[in-house]
Amino acid sequence: MGHCKCNGGEEGLHSTQKACGCAGERHCHEKGEDDGGVRRSVIKILVAASLLVAAVVVDHCADMPMWALLIVYLVPYLAAGHGVLKEACDSVAKGDLFNEVTLMSIATIGALSIGFLPGGEPEFAEAVFVMLFFLVGETFEEYAEGRSRESIGNLMDLKPAEAHVVRDGKEEDVSPEDLTEGDIVIVRPGEKIPADGTVESGYSSLNTVALTGESAPREVGPGDQALSGCVNTQGALTIRVEKAYAESTAAKVMQLVEESGEKKSRSETFIARFAKVYTPIVVIAALFVALVPPMLSDGVFATNFTIWLGRALTFLVISCPCALVISVPLTFFGGIGGASRKGILIKGASYIDALARLGTAVFDKTGTLTEGRFSVTSVCPSDITADELLHLAAHVESFSTHPIAISLVEAYKKESTCMCQKCAVTDVNEVAGQGLTAIVAGRRVAVGNTRLMAKEGASVDEHDHIGSVVHVSIDGHYAGHIVVSDVVKKDSLEAIENLRKGLGVKTVMLTGDREKVARDVADGLGLDEWHSDLLPADKVSHVERLLNEPRGGKTLAFVGDGINDAPVLARADVGIAMGALGSDAAIEAADVVLMDDKPSKVAQAVGIARRVESIARQNVVFAIGIKVAVLILAALGLCGMWMAVFADVGVTVLAVLNAMRALR
Ligand code: ADP
Ligand code: MG
Repeated sequence: MGHCKCNGGEEGLHSTQKACGCAGERHCHEKGEDDGGVRRSVIKILVAASLLVAAVVVDHCADMPMWALLIVYLVPYLAAGHGVLKEACDSVAKGDLFNEVTLMSIATIGALSIGFLPGGEPEFAEAVFVMLFFLVGETFEEYAEGRSRESIGNLMDLKPAEAHVVRDGKEEDVSPEDLTEGDIVIVRPGEKIPADGTVESGYSSLNTVALTGESAPREVGPGDQALSGCVNTQGALTIRVEKAYAESTAAKVMQLVEESGEKKSRSETFIARFAKVYTPIVVIAALFVALVPPMLSDGVFATNFTIWLGRALTFLVISCPCALVISVPLTFFGGIGGASRKGILIKGASYIDALARLGTAVFDKTGTLTEGRFSVTSVCPSDITADELLHLAAHVESFSTHPIAISLVEAYKKESTCMCQKCAVTDVNEVAGQGLTAIVAGRRVAVGNTRLMAKEGASVDEHDHIGSVVHVSIDGHYAGHIVVSDVVKKDSLEAIENLRKGLGVKTVMLTGDREKVARDVADGLGLDEWHSDLLPADKVSHVERLLNEPRGGKTLAFVGDGINDAPVLARADVGIAMGALGSDAAIEAADVVLMDDKPSKVAQAVGIARRVESIARQNVVFAIGIKVAVLILAALGLCGMWMAVFADVGVTVLAVLNAMRALR
């Protein structure tokens, strides 16, 4: 029953981590204070409960006038409720009349006073009980929230407490934030890598489980990239820092998960709006219950009024929409946490909605369904030597981050050591989805597909190759081509099958590659639809066409690697990027990031999203159902304040427990 949310629920669950400008400021602890907060609340509950027992004993043993009894019960009442009463005063002072603290205060003050009205039974114990249980519910919520945050925190605990940096020949311990580019750090076995960098010396295997959810180790040695957040499992490594902590993978991933609370799901926005309307309606209904029936019935107005006032007070106790306001955001928060534990980063609850309703999954080919690691299968030069052709291509490609480019640079081993005059490359221009042009030693060189060759005016001499073909032209004259081939990822087949058969999602592939290559991949995977020879802009228009098809409320996701497809990632309902390890473009452009490159994670993400939605729906139906039932019983006089409190706390506890299932 956290106050942060009940006055409209605008501040999401997540915002409690930051400054929360609403009534429940005392709940807004920093991480780490939660335990203390919960412990303090439990002590408060125990003290108030003991005082209540003492008051009941006094009540039964001594024959006291009503006002003396009131004083006896006021002790536990204030012990349990002083915080709530103070908050209620504060929020009334701010002009916010309809929130749960004011409702609880009015209801309990009413219960304390009703015994003094003609024909009224004292309800002192009930008043204390309401406050006490309110406190129990609140503590429970605080605990549950702390638990979710803790488990997300743990799994997102990618930052080591300190980094061992070598400065002036001496090892110093500094905080990772204090590292700068070029620093040399030592990472011993069992320690986390503090910032992204390159291994200078040492061999080890890195555990990337915290980033990817996969425990397969990554072997590294001198020259290899070492990403922050990975755990060094074997030998000591000396690493040259290449990015400051704030720019490193670990910081970016953690920031992403932290900000995910800001994008509300439809259910959360619905609940926030619902609470805004629902609370005043219940208050007006309570007034109606207190005033109208006694006026209509015959008999003494005062006596009837007392009876109906009692029912109206019960109404107020029931009116708190806490179970909903708390459990729904908690469910989404838990779902985001559970997914990130599997290496699926969802940037906001609204994308859980969209994933749950996924109808079409559009995939990019290179690097998404295929490995994106090309091996050179043949080099076919015309006029120049094979070595020269590869040499030229690798030079120009060294300016690109495209998977083909990376593979060609790797294939031409001498690239990194070559310093000759002939190799001065200038005026590099990358044409997305086509290739590159550059000036190499005064000659205009183009490296790319047939489309690029046509623009250069070079006539292509192509054989019937299997694989993607990289053509090279020099000053508009065709210089030959290099055939590279890629393999389909091991789990692409499973990914497509799970989506098509398991989840009923239509699968589409869009690629800039040749028809022949596209057909091979599409046939092998059993895709529903595919299109080849596309420029990045064509991919956008295909996605737009699919978006305009009648979809019956279903959504469309685009899955890509962030290279040449950022516009499509942005255009789709859900942009899913692969290969976030090291690719900033992917992390930035996408709504969902798959930390390892497995397309099967898409189906997994949809599964998680559907489960989260169904838990949220269960909670909404359950909480509203019970509330309505108890409200009717209260109006009929069949349910007293005791039962109302039990119902309210019970529903909240069950809803929160249910919500926490989303984390698993
Ligand atoms: P995909 O849609 O399969 O991810 P892209 O849109 O990234 O492919 O690229 C489409 C085509 O453009 C590639 O198949 C290749 O022929 C050509 N291409 C793009 N970038 C390069 C590059 N850097 N070097 C050579 N060819 C390239
Ligand atoms: Mg691509």
